[in-house]
Amino acid sequence: MSDAELPASARLKVELMFEGVRYSPALGAASEHAFPNFYPYRFRPGEPNPSGRDKVAIPYLMTLRDGTLIRVKGSADSPWRVEGDRTVGYRIESDDGRSLPIAFEPLPAWMQGKTDDGFPMAQAGVSLHGDMAVINIAPGCEYFLSRAQDGDSLRCTFCAYGAPNERIKHFEQRIGEAGLASIAVSRMQQTLTAALDEGGIRHIYLVGGSMTDWDQEGARFIALAGAVQQVNDHRLPVACGSGALPEARLDRLHGDGLVDQICFNLEVWSEALFARVCPGKQRYVGYDRWLRALEQAASRFGRGNVYSAMVAGIELEPEHEMTWEQAAALGVDGAVQLLNRGAIPVYSLYWPTGGRDHPDYFSRLQHYFEALNLGYARIRRERGIRISERFLTHRSAYMQLECDIDRAEVAGA
Ligand code: SF4
Repeated sequence: MSDAELPASARLKVELMFEGVRYSPALGAASEHAFPNFYPYRFRPGEPNPSGRDKVAIPYLMTLRDGTLIRVKGSADSPWRVEGDRTVGYRIESDDGRSLPIAFEPLPAWMQGKTDDGFPMAQAGVSLHGDMAVINIAPGCEYFLSRAQDGDSLRCTFCAYGAPNERIKHFEQRIGEAGLASIAVSRMQQTLTAALDEGGIRHIYLVGGSMTDWDQEGARFIALAGAVQQVNDHRLPVACGSGALPEARLDRLHGDGLVDQICFNLEVWSEALFARVCPGKQRYVGYDRWLRALEQAASRFGRGNVYSAMVAGIELEPEHEMTWEQAAALGVDGAVQLLNRGAIPVYSLYWPTGGRDHPDYFSRLQHYFEALNLGYARIRRERGIRISERFLTHRSAYMQLECDIDRAEVAGA
């Protein structure tokens, strides 16, 4: 792989992440046996629509033959479409003549099961990203309920998934209380057990909405990690994807062997951006404390076991007034600074809410994403750093490129 170019699979992944896939009957049929997408395919007025409905279910994740994982994004304008079927196999075909075999991440049997109190396992707080099980039984984020002086909520500006709405009811999550409801724990444990028994899971990631008291959030994650370990019979690696936590909570998580990795998501580099993009994190934890907590985690868990997810591309929202070159340079600088603190950033492509009317917006976003990933890959190579497969693999990183790039480098070497 050259310094100036992504490896072939990663290049194709970027293409498909940006261009998406247009509807075809084969894509619709695949949804019957594939892991379901959270977003249905919405037909654009005038688009050929053999389904006869406004929106239809589509698969969530597809894999290339080398295992590269890609999110399926429905897009009427895409040059890509899916052909084939389950028996002969699926292919992704482009209007330019390219045709490649793909597979869809299958719908596991446990997702159609029920817990012993008759609750659907699909809603019990266990989800899959490829070979990663994601556990979330307290999804409501308290930042949504706090207000800035101008009346705006303190949620992260990109976040659509943390609203404390109907979803938190069946987990019996109570705002301001760290405790997890025993019914939610029991359903999660039964579901995780069924998922682990079915196979294919290689690592576990704990997440949840944030609390305004970071110490209480730590107590909640300690309880969650303990509950997961009770059913983690094969001792798969477990990562704590909470907000930054105080030292005493880190000591418990580490000293009691509750988790193997820490992932405190800083989301963006620079305090100015952090304050604007993550006002809740800034108010209730603060940028400096967040960085210190990452360092404290690295001193306990060791280098290679501390991560920070970053929202790659939010810098290009119009209000931040940055060119893609400036944003990529800032991102690469942030990667260096985080690595210097013992934390490894991982960059997930941000899908914009604003600025989309700008004709060149997506082209700038793509340039930025490629430049950031190439710059960051160079730094990892120089320092001999790789994303640990115990934390994230190319079989779970559906919106990130690091694992694909690292894997291509290892294969090339
Ligand atoms: S901390 Fe931010 S990203 Fe996480 S759930 Fe709350 S608003 Fe969403």
